Amino acid sequence: MNAPLTDRKATNFEVDFLRRMPKVELHVHLEGAISPSTIRTMAARNNVTLPVSEGELENFFKFRDFDHFLEAYYAATSTMLTLEDWRLMIDQFMADRREQNIVYSEVFVSASHHLQRYDHDEWIRVLSESIGEGEERYGVRIRLIPDISREVPETSRPVLDFVTKAWENGVALGIGLGGPEQGFPPELFTDVFAEAKQAGMHVVAHAGETEGAASVRGAWNGLGAERIGHGLRVLEDPDLTHDMAAARVPFEVNPTSNYCIGVVSQDSPHPIRGMIDSGLVVTVNSDDPALFGNSLAQEFQLLIEQGFELEELWKLNLDAIGASFLNETEKETLTQQFCVFHTENSGGR
Ligand SMILES: [Zn+2]
Repeated sequence: MNAPLTDRKATNFEVDFLRRMPKVELHVHLEGAISPSTIRTMAARNNVTLPVSEGELENFFKFRDFDHFLEAYYAATSTMLTLEDWRLMIDQFMADRREQNIVYSEVFVSASHHLQRYDHDEWIRVLSESIGEGEERYGVRIRLIPDISREVPETSRPVLDFVTKAWENGVALGIGLGGPEQGFPPELFTDVFAEAKQAGMHVVAHAGETEGAASVRGAWNGLGAERIGHGLRVLEDPDLTHDMAAARVPFEVNPTSNYCIGVVSQDSPHPIRGMIDSGLVVTVNSDDPALFGNSLAQEFQLLIEQGFELEELWKLNLDAIGASFLNETEKETLTQQFCVFHTENSGGR
């Protein structure tokens, strides 16, 4: 079902088009998108000792293997201690969005790991102000999806309480579920997700990345997840795949992340082609760009090198608008803006 690996390289026109095209991203973790230089700034002002010396820092944050990935992720997170750090991170993140021309992003924050550190009202105020300032400064929009880290299920309730406030404030869209799937199935979080849904919040979950189709089924049926993070392993269950395609449930696919972590082997094409051929709604995302050393344009470029045509990728880019939690008017406005770019830039290949 997968497209064969090809020796096709993206042309200069394609690389340039993908870099310049306006984009939407639905699966990116704020903590995994902070550059080593910002981590260094926060570590210095918070007197946090990083596991490696100044000169090795850049290299330390490059992906090696899964254990190292977790070490780097937690080392980065350990430097984020004050509300000023959140101002800095959001400013840097939004500047990078501008640079990549990602005009709208729905962004995970690992709330489980930060909650106990701040007064929740203060934290929400700082997040809200920083996002507002970033929108003015950089002309891009972001909204947050704070998530529960599965390995600390006891944080579920406090995360829900925090998200409820952040959602009422307009900073958050709803609640997510992240962290290791193994040993922490979706069923552990049913009550909290039911409450969030009942209140009218959006709910999403990582599933089917390291665990199989049962995890995707649990996230969709058990938690009512409106989108699935990763979800590649849904393909192991043709009936579930068929049902989710019919229900138009969007999947947030992160090719580079899957290759780095080893969910997809280096010498195989990415199963995204199989997902699309099965009728699933698919979006392309970068997950933890600072750690994987990728950009959203590079994710699209990788797919070109696996045989995708630019027009197919443009359609996936538009599908991300449709799969977002923007309202219908906002989606229409954004689609029109995107189409202007497409019309003006599709010639001359
Ligand atoms: Zn993720």
